[in-house]
Amino acid sequence: MNRFLLAVCAGIMAAPMAVAQVTDADLAQDDVVTTSVLTNGMGRHMQRYSPLDQINRDTVQNLFPAWSFSFGGERQRGQESQPLVYDGVMYVTGSYSRVFALDVKTGSKLWQYDARLPEGILPCCDVINRGAAIYGDNIYFGTLDARIVALNRHTGAVVWNKRIADYREGYSYTAAPLIVNGLVITGNSGGEFGIVGAVEARDAENGELVWRRPVIEGHMGELNGEESTMTGELNATWPGDLWKTGGGAPWLGGTYDADTNTLIFGTGNPAPWNSHLREGDNLYAASRLGIDPATGEIKWHFQTTPWEGWDFDGVNEVIPFTDAAGNGRLATADRNGFFYLLNREDGAFVDAMPFVEEISWASGIGEDGRPIFNPDNRPGNPAASADGDRGEVVWAVPGFLGGKNWQHMAYSNRTGYFYVPANEWGMDIWNEPITYRQGAAYLGAGFTIKPLFEDHIGALKAIDPNTMEIKFQVNNAAPLWGSAMATAGGLVFYGTPEGYINAIDDETGEILWQFQTGSGVVGQPITWEDEDGVQWLSVVSGWGGAVPLWGGEVAQQVAYLNQGGSVVTFRIPDALLASAE
Ligand code: CA
Repeated sequence: MNRFLLAVCAGIMAAPMAVAQVTDADLAQDDVVTTSVLTNGMGRHMQRYSPLDQINRDTVQNLFPAWSFSFGGERQRGQESQPLVYDGVMYVTGSYSRVFALDVKTGSKLWQYDARLPEGILPCCDVINRGAAIYGDNIYFGTLDARIVALNRHTGAVVWNKRIADYREGYSYTAAPLIVNGLVITGNSGGEFGIVGAVEARDAENGELVWRRPVIEGHMGELNGEESTMTGELNATWPGDLWKTGGGAPWLGGTYDADTNTLIFGTGNPAPWNSHLREGDNLYAASRLGIDPATGEIKWHFQTTPWEGWDFDGVNEVIPFTDAAGNGRLATADRNGFFYLLNREDGAFVDAMPFVEEISWASGIGEDGRPIFNPDNRPGNPAASADGDRGEVVWAVPGFLGGKNWQHMAYSNRTGYFYVPANEWGMDIWNEPITYRQGAAYLGAGFTIKPLFEDHIGALKAIDPNTMEIKFQVNNAAPLWGSAMATAGGLVFYGTPEGYINAIDDETGEILWQFQTGSGVVGQPITWEDEDGVQWLSVVSGWGGAVPLWGGEVAQQVAYLNQGGSVVTFRIPDALLASAE
């Protein structure tokens, strides 16, 4: 039934008739249906690739801002969200746990939801939010006080509101939820506070917990209100009681690979940062987990950084794809500086390569997928120091904010390349004694991030997964902190803290178009087409995130950048569309 008929039917019925509703089938086709954007990652494989090509290498110079919407408020800070587009409406989240519904053609506000955040929330890395999910008639998003909220998409009214965990213990929530088979699937945040990472599935209709999978060994899972299975084997890779406050927060959300019916979530650093207190692999921190969406059972795991000691969270997105030889693969670019290929069926290691320069903590990845450690590059044990209060300082690369942090890479179905928003930096890091205290930072480390090169920190890198080589890179003075998107128009879009949304040639890296949005772009661009076949592009703008808070010398270097909060939407004007035909 087309949209006009639906409108007529709704007019005839006395009671408001249900209009379009997002189904599981809609979510499954989000990567190929171009008239909406229903999932984080523009498809549950998170490839961030659009088959649209009206905006292409020839026409991109004609892009104009059609509208801009300000998130307003006195408080701005980092805007790391990805908008959703459905049924004539854009749903976009802002800093401080806000959601806005906007007319997608004009940017006019339809409704706004501001979560009432308590005093004392403990977000580690700015008051950001990375986007919402849509299903049925609801919009789902998480809040900084570790709640998950369902809102009616027409009115913004609260349908349900559930606590994930206690924010006073250091839990928070910032990722875009993932919807699979009627379940709202979330991770949690708080790995710097000694929380316990967990992936949870809730009934999308009422928010009731269906299953819960802690990701640190020794903790018990839950299924349908009862204990299910223990994660891993108690004390197999963790000494003493350290697993009880073991971190591993799956704070960036996950992918769903429908071909293997597997959820894939990455897990953050083990806690505390001082690795000498927890000698062992510390499963399943700093890992990728394949999880059964029906039960929450772990099907496979791959640990990128065993006995992690540099804050190399293993949360990065895992993108299913088929390589040139027809093999099913999973690709992920880790915070530790290595780009990995895994087997799509079972997560088994296939290959790895460094994607940033001067990696110091490991000399490479062995054939078993484990890093070949440089033992001298582990921060020294404070217990071995003369006064016992500070271990040996080491210069380690990458710095703890990572060769790549949360900002997502894109996979172009056109070129077969991954486009990785990477950063080149290192750190002085040292370890200190630490004991766990609820709601307090649980690090046992000190650090200063510094640039590696004079002219750039950020570098958008094009990686060919078939040859495992970097085809080109586009350097940027400030660190890249927003996601990339590729299109069939031969373009890759990504933002810079300097305020630009860039479009580059996907084969050469040449910058073909830029627009200054007024504040740093650390968001996730999207594109879609309307019912008249016009292609639109949108990105949020607003500098912030972890770099200004944790970036040491780099933070000083970029202290001149101004905060903001807006979503800017572009298209090619009708007159220029006509002349291009
Ligand atoms: Ca961390």
